[in-house]
Amino acid sequence: MLQASRREKRLAQMHIEKPLEPPKNGLLVPELVPVAHEVLDNWKVLIRGLSQLLNVVSVYGCRKCPQVHVGPVGHQIQDCYGSGSQRRNSHHSWARGSINDVLIPIESYHLFDPFGRRVKHDTRFDYDRIPAIVELCIQAGVDLPQYPSRRRTAPVRMIGKKVIDRGEFVDEPKPQRSEHCVSLLAELDTFSNQQVQSPSPSNMKELAKRTLKAYLNVRRGVEQLMSKYTVKACGYCSEVHVGPWGHNVKLCGAFKHQWRDGKHGWQDAVVDEVIPPNYVWHVPDPSGSPLRSSLRSFYGKAPAVVELCVQAGAEIPDEYRAMMRTDIVIPDSVEARMAA
Ligand SMILES: [Zn+2]
Ligand SMILES: [Zn+2]
Ligand SMILES: [Zn+2]
Repeated sequence: MLQASRREKRLAQMHIEKPLEPPKNGLLVPELVPVAHEVLDNWKVLIRGLSQLLNVVSVYGCRKCPQVHVGPVGHQIQDCYGSGSQRRNSHHSWARGSINDVLIPIESYHLFDPFGRRVKHDTRFDYDRIPAIVELCIQAGVDLPQYPSRRRTAPVRMIGKKVIDRGEFVDEPKPQRSEHCVSLLAELDTFSNQQVQSPSPSNMKELAKRTLKAYLNVRRGVEQLMSKYTVKACGYCSEVHVGPWGHNVKLCGAFKHQWRDGKHGWQDAVVDEVIPPNYVWHVPDPSGSPLRSSLRSFYGKAPAVVELCVQAGAEIPDEYRAMMRTDIVIPDSVEARMAA
């Protein structure tokens, strides 16, 4: 790694071009185009499935802290550190949640040309904010008429960190906003209020399975795409940027990072930053009494999507069994344990 960057520097000093392979040179990676389509298709199945399952399984969010709970009643584990938690003995203050508490929205700017002009603070309103996963799929080859993307035929050329040839700046075409596009947007985004029917009990298990499978497919596919396509995440806040260089919008951490003038600190992102696991307590028996502090050491955790699908009837995926502590027998109550 270090050696590579040293070699790069030497090449740059000699004004020799950096050898770039797709997608670092702005061209698509052909074998990842089908992966991008698969991710987007699974993403739609996931959103639609979750909005249906939410008619059956309840989700709560704490009013005072970021915690989320999946299950018929909020848990009673005293681990709230939000404002006023001392008055509540560290109990959470639960309110009914939505799909955005399960699938935490991570958005990024849609770029017609990720290798073109950087998004600046003053130009930020010229760009749409869309789910980062959707932007990644577009940059990896999915064509969506409402979010046009520049497809190069000639590679970007660089010497060191300087782009010497990116083709001409091309004006962004006007997106087509037809009725079809509006309905497509609703499928891609968790913010559009979807009116969906509750699944019938017989379909529910099937739907839970399908939704969980879609989730695992999205995560796997995103990981594959991110092995080639650059995604940046800010080291100080949850901002994500899809594309090679980050952006210059100064909205980092709102007021906490005044000393950096609101500039984000870009690093290479990991999958969990693009699709946060959003861990919740696993409820082994949703019809039993609420989870409580005294039994805390017996409980496991799971990503909110996994927990929701499992409570709706999906089987626990092997890779989550240990984390969800399926092997642990939970005593009926502490008193019972004491008496024994
Ligand atoms: Zn497709
Ligand atoms: Zn809380
Ligand atoms: Zn930031």
